Amino acid sequence: MTARAGQLAALAAELSKGAAQLESQLIELVCELTAIDAPSGSGAETMGPASAAFARILGRFSRSAELLPTPRGDLIEFKVGPAGDTHVLVLGHYDTVWPAGTAAERPAKVVGDSLYGPGTYDMRGGIAAAFSALSLLGEARLPIPVRFLLTPDEETGSACSRERIVELGRAAQCALVLEPPLPAGGIKTSRSGWTVYELTVSGVSAHAGLEPERGVSAIDELCDTIVELRGVADADVGTTINVGVISGGTLPNLVAAQATAQVDVRTRSTAEDARVLDALASLRPRRKGAGLKVKQLHSRPAMERSPATALAYQHIQRLARALGQPLGEGHAGGTSDANLIAPLGLPVIDGLGPDGAGAHARDERILISSLVERTALLALLLAYPPGRAHSAVA
Ligand SMILES: [Zn+2]
Repeated sequence: MTARAGQLAALAAELSKGAAQLESQLIELVCELTAIDAPSGSGAETMGPASAAFARILGRFSRSAELLPTPRGDLIEFKVGPAGDTHVLVLGHYDTVWPAGTAAERPAKVVGDSLYGPGTYDMRGGIAAAFSALSLLGEARLPIPVRFLLTPDEETGSACSRERIVELGRAAQCALVLEPPLPAGGIKTSRSGWTVYELTVSGVSAHAGLEPERGVSAIDELCDTIVELRGVADADVGTTINVGVISGGTLPNLVAAQATAQVDVRTRSTAEDARVLDALASLRPRRKGAGLKVKQLHSRPAMERSPATALAYQHIQRLARALGQPLGEGHAGGTSDANLIAPLGLPVIDGLGPDGAGAHARDERILISSLVERTALLALLLAYPPGRAHSAVA
């Protein structure tokens, strides 16, 4: 065993033991965080008490909390560790899909190894593990600065957080994302992309019986456009296109002057993101007098398993092995804020939250044993962050 491997083994043993001793505090912390309602998309006024409560509770781990207001609630940032020109970005979100009042209606409860409660799995458990990992390792042992960013609007598309996420991602050596893992605890090294487009077609109205030839049907134009769009999908490479919403016209006896559709596009690569975007941008109306506008309503690009992320996974697997934790990896069909930073080229590891089940469901829960394990793993990751420090672990 080399000196470095010996150091890693010793630290892994210390952190495993320390995390196990923290079990009851970890449970208490998740319960405290689960008691805070933070309905995504509800606005800054409703989210204000949530960000204040998070900053107060997590302020026990670092006094560096800073609240940056947005129309959807505050961004909460913590800056810890030594000075430096790059950092580890630990990314999470404190909003949930649950309406106000849910926390009181269904408070967290422990049943065997499971800790139930709204937001435990997505993602208060991950937040509790990350901040406990910081205190377990100790700020003095961080080799490079760590920036924690907790956002208020991940569940509703991150419109108000996106800019800050990308800004901190651009300067980061690696990003550790606290979303729930794959079933059985595997981390997410790639994610599908998700973009929503709105097509708006304009036509010319006319009486459908008296002089239909004077009209230009926006509905007919939209239907033809959708048929053309179908040809853009490519299931072989994972690109699917779903027209999920459609509307138009006013009365059966009128040639429709307007029609709209909302289109959901899923992709597996940035090349496909670009191809679909090009195809949509080049759509043209085929009827004289018809108009067509394409607007992007929401976009999270595909997160590919880049060479940097693959290397980071190998590194994390080595750390997990030192802790005696098996750790798989895989692809996730859903998106997260990890998708926003993956195209920047840094290693992005998602799904670092504890194992559990029931995301966005009433039986949402995490496994307490996994909460403890993830705390140790995150602490070791903060000590040996992926990226520049790969070589530090022999
Ligand atoms: Zn989430």
